[in-house]
Amino acid sequence: MISEKMKGYVKNSSVIRAMFEEGKKMAAIYGADHVYDFSLGNPNVPAPAKVKEAVYDILENEDSLMVHGYMSNSGYEDVRGTIAEHLNGLYGTSYSAENLLMIVGAAGGMNVFMKTILNPGDEVITFSPYFTEYRAYVTNYDGKLVEIPCDAETFQPDVEALAASVNERTKAVIINSPNNPTGVVYSRESLMAVARVLSEKEKEFGHPIFIFSDEPYREIVYGDYEVPWIPDLYKNTVVGYSYSKSLSLPGERIGWLCFPSEIDDFSDMIAGANVANRILGFVNAPSLMQRVVARCLDEKTDVAYYAENRSVLMEGLSKAGFTFVEPQGAFYLWLKSPEDDEKAFVAKAKEKQILIVPGSSFGKSGWTRLAYCVSHETVKNSLPGFAELAKEYGL
Ligand code: PLP
Repeated sequence: MISEKMKGYVKNSSVIRAMFEEGKKMAAIYGADHVYDFSLGNPNVPAPAKVKEAVYDILENEDSLMVHGYMSNSGYEDVRGTIAEHLNGLYGTSYSAENLLMIVGAAGGMNVFMKTILNPGDEVITFSPYFTEYRAYVTNYDGKLVEIPCDAETFQPDVEALAASVNERTKAVIINSPNNPTGVVYSRESLMAVARVLSEKEKEFGHPIFIFSDEPYREIVYGDYEVPWIPDLYKNTVVGYSYSKSLSLPGERIGWLCFPSEIDDFSDMIAGANVANRILGFVNAPSLMQRVVARCLDEKTDVAYYAENRSVLMEGLSKAGFTFVEPQGAFYLWLKSPEDDEKAFVAKAKEKQILIVPGSSFGKSGWTRLAYCVSHETVKNSLPGFAELAKEYGL
């Protein structure tokens, strides 16, 4: 007999995951080459060769008791120190091992953060559309997720709506840029405006309101869009980073949280997050992968591969007459549904073996998301189907 709360989670279980499973079934029926699965953000670019070399070398040459043993809940101190130095080189900061906590992917990290800060009934704001799982990451700890819209044209945060939504129960605001699902990179101006509002509200309510910056796509940017280091703009920022996309390691579950020393209640936050990591059952982030990523900090994923998919897709979709937001980062394209009911559009796309995700899964109906972290062939071969769809809609 499962809990009432879990019954709710099962009922609302991820549409994206369901589509991913469906894609596998369809591939068995039609052949993988004839299914165009844009459902899941599972990077198809392989991990850099250095990752494999590091795995072998660590297993061959590092002390196996250490590599496979228990460690402090925050992770290996030398790994955290190396990552801190790397961040200092990038952002001119002065972090050390004590500012970092190794986590079980961005998802694990957000759960650690939410468990650390939330009392029942506390509110966490997210800009909509947003990564579907945020709701569970907040309600897991009896918090309330408050959705506020992005600007309807630019999909940048709507700062006036933010100002109107923050109240004495607001504990944190989630920022995700480059954004899943829109592919938009939040501008420095937008982020500064968010920071201004939150600083005023902190004064008004007399307690910290954290920004949680969820950054698994930080390096995946097209052109010269800037992805500012948010702790430079707003003191009470905690950054969550993951190697799932930047090194194509989503199954390995590895990343870090950065708690700058300047944040309010720094010592309590670090102590709380360490305990959260332990009692959520993670105990510590995967040991081998901690050691691997520390050796691969200068490695980069093949952004050019995604850029090629992005331009082929944009060209094909605009030729067909679709409306979409030009992706600035991540590997998602935010496509306007040609009919108000985007689920009906998604169903029609499925008839052409094209799998895309309805925007309502991200809190915004009337739109759909395509994850183009797929092969070049999948993108190219999907275009006739999109063209047929466009014709059926009279675009
Ligand atoms: N946050 C966002 C915005 C994501 O898109 C994802 C995964 O797609 C995650 C968090 C979870 O990442 P991870 O696999 O590192 O837990």
